[in-house]
Amino acid sequence: MAQELIFAQVALPQGKGLLLDYLLPPEFATALPGMRVEVPLGTRKARGWLLSLSRETSLNPQKLRPILSLLDEEPLFSAELLELAHYLAWTTASHVALVLEAMYPGGTQPGGGREEVYLFPGEIPGVLTPKQQKVVDLVVLFPGQFTRREAARLAGVSPSLIGGLLQKGVLQGEGPMAAASSPEPFPPLTPHQEEAWQRMHTAFSRPEGGVFLLQGVTGSGKTEVYLKGAAHALSLGKGVLFLVPEMALLPQTEKRLRARFGDEVVLFHSNLSLGSRRKVWEAVRDGRKKILLGPRSAAFLPFPSLGLLIMDEEHEPAYKQHEGEPHYHARDVVLWRQAYHGAVALLGSATPAVETLYLTRRGKATRLLLPQRVGGRPLPQVELVDMRGKRELFSPELEGAMEETLKKGQQVLLFLNRRGFAPVVVCRDCGQDLRCPHCDIALTYHRDGTLHCHYCDYRQKAPGRCPHCGSPHLYPMGLGTQRVEEEVQRKFPGVRVARLDRDAARRGGAYQEIYEMFRRGQVDVLVGTQMVAKGWDIGGVTLVGVVRADGGLHLPDFRAAERTLQLLVQVAGRAGRGHHPGRVIIQTLQPEHPALAAAVKEDGEAFFEKELRQREEAGWPPFRSMVRVVVRGQDEGDVEKGAEALAALWREEVDEVLGPAQAPLARLQGQFRWHMILLDRDKERLLEAVHRWRQKGEVPRRVQVWLDPDPLAML
Ligand code: ADP
Ligand code: ZN
Ligand code: ZN
Repeated sequence: MAQELIFAQVALPQGKGLLLDYLLPPEFATALPGMRVEVPLGTRKARGWLLSLSRETSLNPQKLRPILSLLDEEPLFSAELLELAHYLAWTTASHVALVLEAMYPGGTQPGGGREEVYLFPGEIPGVLTPKQQKVVDLVVLFPGQFTRREAARLAGVSPSLIGGLLQKGVLQGEGPMAAASSPEPFPPLTPHQEEAWQRMHTAFSRPEGGVFLLQGVTGSGKTEVYLKGAAHALSLGKGVLFLVPEMALLPQTEKRLRARFGDEVVLFHSNLSLGSRRKVWEAVRDGRKKILLGPRSAAFLPFPSLGLLIMDEEHEPAYKQHEGEPHYHARDVVLWRQAYHGAVALLGSATPAVETLYLTRRGKATRLLLPQRVGGRPLPQVELVDMRGKRELFSPELEGAMEETLKKGQQVLLFLNRRGFAPVVVCRDCGQDLRCPHCDIALTYHRDGTLHCHYCDYRQKAPGRCPHCGSPHLYPMGLGTQRVEEEVQRKFPGVRVARLDRDAARRGGAYQEIYEMFRRGQVDVLVGTQMVAKGWDIGGVTLVGVVRADGGLHLPDFRAAERTLQLLVQVAGRAGRGHHPGRVIIQTLQPEHPALAAAVKEDGEAFFEKELRQREEAGWPPFRSMVRVVVRGQDEGDVEKGAEALAALWREEVDEVLGPAQAPLARLQGQFRWHMILLDRDKERLLEAVHRWRQKGEVPRRVQVWLDPDPLAML
């Protein structure tokens, strides 16, 4: 009797993703879904993911080609993760091959290289070269925090220089799990923490687990509740996933986790080498490490059993992958895995996303409140200052408060979400501004006399004359962090000022350096963008000044007000975390705006109610599902025509199509951009419409189409 044929469905990450059938040769009888395979593709070989095996195929078996080799001895993906991949491919309007590629470190890429070691100080001799000294300073400041590669990048030296230091014993290299210290005890919970914990605790013993929103003002002890939950999950023998929105928040969270759980903690993030990431992946899969800390990409690691999923600062847009496909949101992954494992999900924030509050409204999540700061520390006193009709950069209120604070030897944090010196340069004679030649965006003037495009990084020297009319009267307009820094120097001579924004942080190690100097009190006034707004816990800061609160309110985005409120509350939360009470002064041109009124009270309740009502009336998320479509290309006519054609197609299939219209960033890096927004009450119907189009692959001529379900950015 002829041997029965077995067919394999393989997902290939080529282009927008492929799904093809192959024959499974009998010698690969060990093949299982979730393994990587090598297959012929056209005249070449390609690597892909084995999705399923079957005795049937819809194609002619004679035409199918055989799989060439199996690349894994065991499946990399469990049934859970394969199912999750299909779910995400569907909900992000992507392809399962691209999702799998993103879920496993390095995807189908071969190898992995060496596992990285983390650096610790050793015997430090008296004489070092300046470069060596720089590395040693970094490692002394952050023992066990950086791999050789990271430290080389941060200190701006070659990895071989660090190799030399390791050889001489000046530095020691150890595995990432070596930084354990003797465990620190758990403090008794405050009554509010205890109440939150009790409600969460019961969910651990329910088969369906539970989803909780832990809403607490900054400094209210949310992290302590996370730690309590983590300890409980561990005692049940289950894993803990701890997500933070960005890399900058890893060190301080790691410190707190290690202080309680030592060796049980492991980190996963993109600064690790591929080899290290794959090692961490295996350690989690094998249950050797039970507490995993990382940014959104850590949400995919293969825990055999998950007890608790923590998402700190759950409202942060950085939780969504915006650049490459799939455009997934870590919250969706967390909620899906929570349900799969019957685990407990704990979403924490002082200013939750409107979507998350809406989940609690519909009974899909339980809201737990921590309304006060721990230890009776008062919340900072927040004041708005109306800047209408005022020309100076600092109001008398802010200037007076700065003087007072500095006199007492305390620290000031000044926030402005705009880097550079001035965001626009205009000609006083013809009124035109200077624009990036590749983007339709005003160039930002920097103090060193250069103009930068903040979207494509184009730079040029500031011209002496207007390129439009030749006038010499060019005038930098508006505010940037460099201008604020200069103003502080001018008004407060002798005061130690520093600036932290993307320009300042470009220099290797600068972020850590400036943070440390500020923390140790070696800087009196720090001027910064949102880089300084998040998670910092610096006791010496008693005054926070928001130089301009309005910038974000003008963005063409239905979340503009929500974002502004979240950012202001974050910034305000940096004040008065130590022994002295804090004060926050917010300068604004729109003192009546509801987002600003809510920031003053650090109470989003009224704001949330109003925001929900408005979104319901307008049919915005979470009341309707949304997909944003961006069409871009070299020729604006093609782009417009392409966008119109797609809109005509989708108008037949979904509730509403807004647009197409020029995107707010109408030209970027030489490409014209149009966009449209698809809306439907029925999420499945919306997804079916975009998948139907995607599968047909009918992209209009000479343009690219970019699909973004549940978009967090509208530019
Ligand atoms: P959040 O995460 O809400 O900003 P944290 O958990 O960081 O708040 O707590 C703020 C401060 O209070 C931290 O210094 C923390 O160590 C301390 N803290 C939190 N809970 C307790 C507690 N139950 N007993 C004593 N100190 C606590
Ligand atoms: Zn001019
Ligand atoms: Zn540009």
